[in-house]
Amino acid sequence: MPEGYKYNRVLLKLSGEALMGQNGYGIDPSVIDALAEEIKEVVNDGVQIAITVGGGNIFRGVAGSANGMDRAQADYIGMLATVMNALALQDGLQRHGVESRVQSAIEMHQVAETYIRLRAIRHMEKGRVVIFAAGTGNPYFTTDTTAALRACEIGADCMMKATKVDGIYTADPVKDPNAVKYDKVSYLEVLTKELNVMDAAAISLCKDNKMPLLVFDLTVHGNIRRALKGENVGTLVY
Ligand code: UDP
Repeated sequence: MPEGYKYNRVLLKLSGEALMGQNGYGIDPSVIDALAEEIKEVVNDGVQIAITVGGGNIFRGVAGSANGMDRAQADYIGMLATVMNALALQDGLQRHGVESRVQSAIEMHQVAETYIRLRAIRHMEKGRVVIFAAGTGNPYFTTDTTAALRACEIGADCMMKATKVDGIYTADPVKDPNAVKYDKVSYLEVLTKELNVMDAAAISLCKDNKMPLLVFDLTVHGNIRRALKGENVGTLVY
């Protein structure tokens, strides 16, 4: 365990939205830079990091199918969107001197390695950040479910879901002024109270495999390190 840290190996889930910053679409290079800087610090301290990226800043299958597209076809477009984000993130990490590898669940040899579990683990052991792209490779899934799956596969100590709010609330804090933030909440409570965290498949996967899930605010600089050190940022789902 790196000195002063609570976790040795983590899976960080970055939504596409997180990468678009204040823009309504696409990738904000300043967000990528800030992220890369934060990741560099913790990787240099010896923390092993894998990242699952979303694609909602570019394309979501559900939105495509609502506009009349075939759902599976639309989902494949969504998966390709996550590859674009993964490559942008890799570029940012590279520019900040962080070694990384993109592993895609859909084969595309020219731009990314294919996902191989043991190879991903080996990369992390060598201090490389592994970026998982193309979701699970299957339509009808989300990148939250992918993140939960990969966290279990690589033996992560924790899955960290980066959001724009500082944790999980009893109700939507934007709509309900009486909403209270949880420091800790069980998976079961998240499921039964339908707390808006991740889709049920992702939560169930974490629950069944006792994968701790930390939901935290990525927009506060330094939160990745604080979360990794076990400081009380966000909400822990256990
Ligand atoms: N997707 C998919 N299978 C997966 C992961 C993702 O089909 O295993 C597609 C799906 O269309 C989804 C899109 O990729 O809408 C982008 O992923 P997601 O919506 O999870 O991204 P985020 O909300 O995290 O930005």
